[in-house]
Amino acid sequence: MIPPLLVPSYGPSAFWHKDTFVTPIAACPCPHADRMRGPGADGTITAATPRPRATRRRVRDPAMNDPGSPPLRPPHPETLLLHGDDPLHEGASLTPPIPWSATFVADDADAFARMASQPMHPRYYTRYGNPLHQRVARLVCGLEGAEAGLATASGMGAIACVAMALLSAGDRVVAQRNHYMGTTRLLSDVLARFGVHTVFVDQTDADAFARELERPAAMVLLESPTNPDCSLTDLAAVAALAHAAGATVVVDNTFATPLNQRPIPLGADLVVHSATKYLGGHHDLTAGVVVGDAARIRAVWDTQIVLGATLSPMDAWLLLRGLRTLAVRVERINATALTVARALAAHPRIEQVSYPGLASHPQHALARRQMRGFGGVMGLRLRAGYAATARFVAGLSLARHAVSLGGVDTLVVHAAAMWSGTLDDEGMRRAGIEPNLVRLSIGLEHADDLVADLQRGLDALD
Ligand code: PLP
Repeated sequence: MIPPLLVPSYGPSAFWHKDTFVTPIAACPCPHADRMRGPGADGTITAATPRPRATRRRVRDPAMNDPGSPPLRPPHPETLLLHGDDPLHEGASLTPPIPWSATFVADDADAFARMASQPMHPRYYTRYGNPLHQRVARLVCGLEGAEAGLATASGMGAIACVAMALLSAGDRVVAQRNHYMGTTRLLSDVLARFGVHTVFVDQTDADAFARELERPAAMVLLESPTNPDCSLTDLAAVAALAHAAGATVVVDNTFATPLNQRPIPLGADLVVHSATKYLGGHHDLTAGVVVGDAARIRAVWDTQIVLGATLSPMDAWLLLRGLRTLAVRVERINATALTVARALAAHPRIEQVSYPGLASHPQHALARRQMRGFGGVMGLRLRAGYAATARFVAGLSLARHAVSLGGVDTLVVHAAAMWSGTLDDEGMRRAGIEPNLVRLSIGLEHADDLVADLQRGLDALD
C-alpha cells in the first residue's frame, strides 16, 4: 500500500519506491491530477487515490526490477541526473516543455481551492512554484540526499530566503571570515539592520568555532571551499559543535557541487547553491537551489513567496538541461584542474597555487576526508605586483577575463580588482585578497591547451 504523501517529499525513498513510482502530491506531473484523483474523505488528496484507468501511465522506475524481485541499488549520480525526475515527466516530448506561464488554470472551484492552499503547488502561480522548479529541486535533492528542496532566482536569493526565513531580531549567527562577498554583506549590512548579530570566525580553525559556539546560536553558516582562495571548513566537526549550540547548519556547497561533497551526511541541515555556477554550468542563467528537511524547506518557501526570489521558467529549463551533464562536467573539470594546478605550481613565476587537491594545500588531508573530488577553482599567487598581475590576467587568450565560475569556459579574475569596489584595504587583508591573487575557474578546454595558455602568460611577465 502506497502511503499518502501530503507534503512534498523529494527524498530518495520517494524517488525509488517499489511497485511503481510514487509521485509526491505537490510534484504530480499531470495538470489535471487534482480532478482525476479527487479528494479523500477528509478533503485531502493522497497518492493512494487511484487515477482513472484511461489516464494512468506507468512510468518505469529506473531503480527497480520487476515487481517481486529485490530492489536494485540506488542509481549512480550520472543516472539520477537523467532519470531522477522521470516521475514528473508529462507528454511525449523527451525534453520537458517550458511551462511559460505566470499562472495555471484550475478545472473547478474545488481544484482551485486546493491549488491555492497547498504549499509548494507546482501549478498555481509561478511565484509559488512551477513544474520545472520542482524537477530541478528533485534532482538536487537526489544528489545531496535531501528530503525537500526549492529552486530560487539566484544563489543570493536562496541564501537570503534561508536567512530571512529562519532568523529573527536578537538571533546570533556564527559565520566564516571568508564567504562569497554577497553573503558577508547580507549578514553584516542587511541582517544587522534587522537586529541579527553575526560573528565571523577563521573557517580553517575548528577551535574558533568551538569558542563562539559555547554560547547558543541560531544559525551557523558555512562555505567550503571558500571564495577566492580555496580554504576549507571542517564541515562534520563544525556541524557537531553547531548542533550542540542549538544552531541550524547551512552550507553553501556551490564550489564543491554535490558530486564532490555532500554536506548533509556530514551534518548540514540545509544546503544552498548558486546554480548559476556548476549546476547550470554554461554561464547562461542565474539561479539558486536550497535543499534540506521538509519542515525547514517549507519555512523557506513561505518566505521566498513574499520576497519574490522566483526562478523564471526559462532559466529553470536551462538549469535542468545543464544538470543533465553535471556529473561528466565535474569529473572532467576535477581532472583538468588538478593537471593545471600541478603544472602551475612548478612555474617560477608562481608563488603559491591554492588548490585543495594539491598535497601542498595546508588542508589537503581534510579535503581528502570530506571531498570526493577537488573542484575547478584555484587561487594563484603570482611573483608579481598588482600591475603585472593585471597584465597577466588580461593577456590570457583561452581563460576568459570574466567574473563567475563553474561553467564550460575557463574564467579568470584578478581578485584585488574584482573586490576593490566592495572592500577597503583592511577588508581585503582579512579576506586574504593580496594584489597578486588570481582566481581561476577551470572549464572544459583540454588541459594541455590551458596549461600552455597560462604558462605563456606567466612567461610574458619576464
Ligand atoms: N555563493 C557562492 C559561493 C558564490 O560564489 C556566489 C556567486 O558568485 C553566490 C553564492 C551567489 O550566487 P548568485 O550570483 O547566483 O546569486
